[in-house]
Amino acid sequence: AIMPEGALREVRSTCPYCGVGCGVLIKTEGGRITGVRGDPDHPANFGKLCTKGGALHLSAKPELLPQVRALRPELRTQRDAPRRAVRWDEALDHVAQRFAAIIAEHGPDSVGFYISGQMLTEDYYVFNKLAKGLVGTNNVDTNSRVCMSSAVAGYKVTLGADAPPCNYDDIDHASCLVLAGSNAAWSHPITFRRIEKAKARRPEMRIIVIDPRRTETAELADLHLQLLPGTDVALFHAMLHVMVWEDLVDPAYIAAHTSGYAALRERVREMSPAAAANLCGLKAEDIVTVARWFALGAPDATPQTRQPTLSMYCQGLNQSSSGTAKNAGLINLHLACGQIGKPGAGPFSLTGQPNAMGGREVGGMANLLSAHRDLANPAHRAEVAKLWGVADVPALRGKTAVELFQAAADGKVKALWIACTNPAQSLPDQALVRRALQTAELVVVQEAYTTAATVPYADVLLPATTWGEKIGTVTNSERRISRVRAATKAPGEARDDWEIAVDFARRLEALLPARLNGRLTLFPYATPEAVWNEHRESTRGRDLDITGLSWATLERDGPQQWPYPAGASVGKARLYDDGQFPTADGRARFFAEAFKPVAEPCDARYPVALTTGRLRDQWHGMSRTGSVPRLFNHAPEPCIDLHPSDLARRGLSDGELLRVASRRGDIVLPARATDTVRPGQAFIAMHWGAEYLGGRNAQGVARLGVNGLTLPVIDPYSFQPELKHSAVRVEAAHLP
Ligand code: SF4
Repeated sequence: AIMPEGALREVRSTCPYCGVGCGVLIKTEGGRITGVRGDPDHPANFGKLCTKGGALHLSAKPELLPQVRALRPELRTQRDAPRRAVRWDEALDHVAQRFAAIIAEHGPDSVGFYISGQMLTEDYYVFNKLAKGLVGTNNVDTNSRVCMSSAVAGYKVTLGADAPPCNYDDIDHASCLVLAGSNAAWSHPITFRRIEKAKARRPEMRIIVIDPRRTETAELADLHLQLLPGTDVALFHAMLHVMVWEDLVDPAYIAAHTSGYAALRERVREMSPAAAANLCGLKAEDIVTVARWFALGAPDATPQTRQPTLSMYCQGLNQSSSGTAKNAGLINLHLACGQIGKPGAGPFSLTGQPNAMGGREVGGMANLLSAHRDLANPAHRAEVAKLWGVADVPALRGKTAVELFQAAADGKVKALWIACTNPAQSLPDQALVRRALQTAELVVVQEAYTTAATVPYADVLLPATTWGEKIGTVTNSERRISRVRAATKAPGEARDDWEIAVDFARRLEALLPARLNGRLTLFPYATPEAVWNEHRESTRGRDLDITGLSWATLERDGPQQWPYPAGASVGKARLYDDGQFPTADGRARFFAEAFKPVAEPCDARYPVALTTGRLRDQWHGMSRTGSVPRLFNHAPEPCIDLHPSDLARRGLSDGELLRVASRRGDIVLPARATDTVRPGQAFIAMHWGAEYLGGRNAQGVARLGVNGLTLPVIDPYSFQPELKHSAVRVEAAHLP
């Protein structure tokens, strides 16, 4: 409940940025958010906040509202007309009628929902049920596809379930820590501070960083493997080759708890350190060293005195056309050495977004179902249909993020509902996404912010609440569920995401009564807690069972980890400590996929390998952080990082405006000479959209950002696109 106007108070909530999931105390005065500090009692951050989290209140200033927020529903019935402000009833009636008409004419798979890891678990649950239960399509996917889906697939193909086995305390127990494809110093700053502290306390702890760039994270490493982009699988296979050759694996663990080892051992036979060194651009002796450190946990340990190794990894492994093989390649190493299920050991995927994990829990993706069930499993579909009270859940896999927009561009998906995300900036191949938004007959955008790239395409704009205004739950990287609480009133006519979806669903139910299966409504919720209770029940007997964790328990005891089954008094901190895995035979499986090069190798026309990533003080497309001037102190403007030798070879100089072109588009931005990238490589931060990189066109649509260059090729298991590598060329911009 909101306190009376004028009262000073603090509200306990969670940071809406990264997957560290820090607890925050939001200060309010007179109903306004006036400050923020770290929650000293939250186990993810113990009172600390990074620069982004510490500036949250500055992004919530009421005076910013007219500039950055969507405040009332808007509608246009003709594509080229401006939208006009309308009442909620008119907007939702219109959308329900258009959806019903399109579904009646073209079938349920002619509509699609594209949602977000920024949403709360309750929002996610309702959207998933709306698509799969009421509409009868699995075309519901999320921007977490672009973020975490390879981690999901990697865990599932090896350990049998999408469950990170570790927790943040493991940092304090690890003897060897591997950071692969993760610039945690910038992307997960509070977790990184804990790593720094552990290293300062125990300098003998070995830190290995695997990253094509020499990042701030790499500065802490005892050994930085600056591999060529996309070659991680070759490296992991070569590390296993060394472990096998030098008898560093744990044969007892392999025999008792795994299957498929012989095939993997055969696979890595040819990947010697020398062969991998050639593919990865590394020294063979460094590959041998990291293999030994990883297997034994410490340089002087033996297989009898093995010390724990923890690996933490993120988008460098995930955002790849071989993302699943990269994730599984690293998990293979943990299984081969028994480096899992004990303090300080295990494969720990760092989630990018604040609630990518919650979205996975409710099955809010085109190939998943509630509570880690699989769409491809008929028994799982029947369980979910029974839970929801519908006749069936369709079997056909829905279209994943890139596929959904491709289908819209091809005219197959005719109505797109986009909630809490900015795909015209953040998905690869922006030109394709924009074609999709132009081709679709109906584009609904449900947003808190008037994003420059996507909102101009909206036929209907539905204003949503955001951090500080809404209530629900999120789950962080270590499976810890935290409450999100409102500290101030919703601005204008903004409504909560779950509530908008329910209001729409009830209207659609009146137009599509067949899917109701005789029920009055599938959406009988008056509060987020009611949604949470249904989600909770869906987890009964599953690996993430939270039937013992009520809303009241979360209120009373604070953030809790799953699983938390009925009868438990605390969640489970570490998984697989008994060597039992959620597979048919209880064994983890080795994954023996061969190394595959990047989808778009560099060539004479496009000779530079471009990778993209985050900066320390910005978040995603800057819809929130972009309104806080002090967050630009760290990096005031976008640029392309290039090695000085690459600039010199082309007669270009530091600071000069360059045109960067791929096969899909081109952008203009200044060069930054730096040896943090290797010759032949380039880096551009993902945050700046086109407001900066070329302004808006006559229709008010922002021009291309960095994802105008990137590639929409996807991993065959996770369907995650290869945002970490595309081939580009750079030249002087020669602007008029
Ligand atoms: Fe927020 Fe992540 Fe920073 Fe914590 S580390 S304050 S969750 S952005």
